Amino acid sequence: MQSTSIKKIYSNISNIITGEKTRKLVIENIGNTYKDLIFYIPYKVVSSSYCNNWGQLSDKKKILIKVLVDKHFSSFRRSNIPYKIKVIFDNKGINLVFFSKYTGYLKNIYKEGEEIYIAGTLAVYGKKFQILHPTIIDFKNINPEKNTINTLFYRQKAGLKTKIIHKSILKVLPLLPKLEEWNLLFMEQYPLSPSWNEAITNIHLGKEDNILENNSKTFLRLAYDEILANQLSLGIIRNSINKEKSNIYKKNSINIIDKFTKLLEFKLTLDQKNNITEIINDLNSNKKMLRLLHGDVGIGKTIVAIVSALHVIHSGYQVVLIAPTEILANQHFNFIKDKFKKLYINVYLLTASIKNKKTILYDIKNNEKSLVIGTHALLQKSIIFNNLSYVIIDEQHRFGVKQRLNLRNKGKKVDMLLMSATPIPRTMLLTHLGDISTSTVKQKPFNTKIRTILKSEININEVIKFIKDKINNNKVFWICPLIESIDEETNNSSIEKRYKLLKKNFNDIGYLHGKLPIEDKNKTLDSFKNGEIKLLISTVVIEVGIDIPDANIILIDNADRFGLAQIHQLRGRVGRGKKDGICILLYKEPLNDTAKERLKVVKNSNNGFDLSEKDLIMRGGGDVLGKNQYGFENFIFYNIIKHQNLLKMAIMEVNDILNSDPNLQSARGKRLIDLLYLFEK
Ligand code: ADP
Ligand code: MG
Repeated sequence: MQSTSIKKIYSNISNIITGEKTRKLVIENIGNTYKDLIFYIPYKVVSSSYCNNWGQLSDKKKILIKVLVDKHFSSFRRSNIPYKIKVIFDNKGINLVFFSKYTGYLKNIYKEGEEIYIAGTLAVYGKKFQILHPTIIDFKNINPEKNTINTLFYRQKAGLKTKIIHKSILKVLPLLPKLEEWNLLFMEQYPLSPSWNEAITNIHLGKEDNILENNSKTFLRLAYDEILANQLSLGIIRNSINKEKSNIYKKNSINIIDKFTKLLEFKLTLDQKNNITEIINDLNSNKKMLRLLHGDVGIGKTIVAIVSALHVIHSGYQVVLIAPTEILANQHFNFIKDKFKKLYINVYLLTASIKNKKTILYDIKNNEKSLVIGTHALLQKSIIFNNLSYVIIDEQHRFGVKQRLNLRNKGKKVDMLLMSATPIPRTMLLTHLGDISTSTVKQKPFNTKIRTILKSEININEVIKFIKDKINNNKVFWICPLIESIDEETNNSSIEKRYKLLKKNFNDIGYLHGKLPIEDKNKTLDSFKNGEIKLLISTVVIEVGIDIPDANIILIDNADRFGLAQIHQLRGRVGRGKKDGICILLYKEPLNDTAKERLKVVKNSNNGFDLSEKDLIMRGGGDVLGKNQYGFENFIFYNIIKHQNLLKMAIMEVNDILNSDPNLQSARGKRLIDLLYLFEK
């Protein structure tokens, strides 16, 4: 049980934020509990020195000064001339300069004749001092003893300004419960570190100007709390899984597996066979299995998973294979159903658009020994299995933890295999799945190569000609980042725009994106498979697992908008048959150095593991969108690259904790439960 005081962290903020509009904005954009607010951390601290005479001013200095607002110069404003306000400091004039489109509000906050505090960076312009976009500082927050002040910047959201966010957070800070210290090892290693309460307060008061740096004492402490909570919860789950027994399977599945592999159009590689053996051995152990099967895109993981499923089905149980899209579920179903029919095994497909659901639901509930393939539709309550014993999750990054558990709870003593087409770097694995067993497919089933070419969009006509020359005995994917163009910047990168252009150059052309009804998607894909369509314009919906062996050219439009690993995934759509593949990365100029570097890295490496590591380092593990490409939630404080030593420490400490106090019943154990609660573990 958590302590009663920690519960306060989840108190509703409604009473403390006055102003209905602000309250609504804060709740919608940040959250409605104390915890949501205090974990919304600033992204930047700017430290300025307090100056009270002209002699202290110098070019480029970050300053905080008290000024008298003298005059607004706004009368003859043209769009390219900035808005200016003259203020008086130490009897001399300084100009405040604004380049914004909307400046109407400035009259209200810089009232002529009033004294205010402002912070900003000084610049010399025409022998005069000016400050570009200064910040007004609330006098109450200034400590005159200190001669610097730190201004915090929070990511603004829909109409919610950084200042309002900060004000709301400042109201929560004094209401937080005082939590007792749970850290031992960390305090030993980093003596004199702040307590949790001090740390979270330091952050939002901008105590030091380096407070947001990964190695500031405050930040380290919070990062350690986060990774400790993470490792502790993973450790607890692992302990409980290790204790649970799994179902017992017959050992003599070799004959049926043999029969099945003879039905395949190809021979299994040695690597695939080894992985199959490894997984079957794990299934046969008397503990529940939780294993990750990863390997580069196109390497042939599906068949490995299916054979392991066959082992379980042979013992009379049900197996479920869930995929993130209907296209993919259909593809698996079509690949397997006839082969399994010959082995007298039922295969069912359940997706949102399947018509005759009743019969299928009945069969799943009443028949043992079958393979059920489907999408999220399988997660519904109404779906009841007869004797589900094995869950396989394809493209695991597309499913949340809850969804995985939900599926697992549909059976008893269920074994689980997670599949990932993006090889997951070890640091990432440890922090998100813990010390999970892994099987890795490394050997490519065919010897085809993929050549990657970088081309500027300026040369698009040359590229079109190149494709025209090859399209007769080939098929082409053309991937766009968007469905429709939204603004100038994205002008050409949409399916809509490209379709117009390409229609003039090619006859057999079609398009595909996530918003089309599934029937249309399937129809277009079928036409592409049977050759009626030779050039398919598409968004990344085709990324996941699509298998069209005779498509050998892929063009990625506005390639600089995609992640490294994602480009690699897309590139894996070609070169799957007997012919080599070509991948054209079309980029928009001008490209900055990082973007150039990134594209060069994909061009020069064809190894998914390698690229995943590099992508991780280049992006620092995060992703602006909140979830990273591996489908894991991002951490707030912990940085997967910069805090690796904290991870090691946490793993060590969690082992100690769980050995001596597995149920967290000691006094410290109880405080650790608070920690788990704090991070919702
Ligand atoms: P992924 O690992 O990305 O899920 P798939 O399982 O979809 O890859 O396999 C990619 C393609 O390779 C499929 O067309 C599959 O049938 C084929 N394939 C798998 N194993 C072999 C093999 N041993 N020899 C030839 N082709 C294979
Ligand atoms: Mg796959």
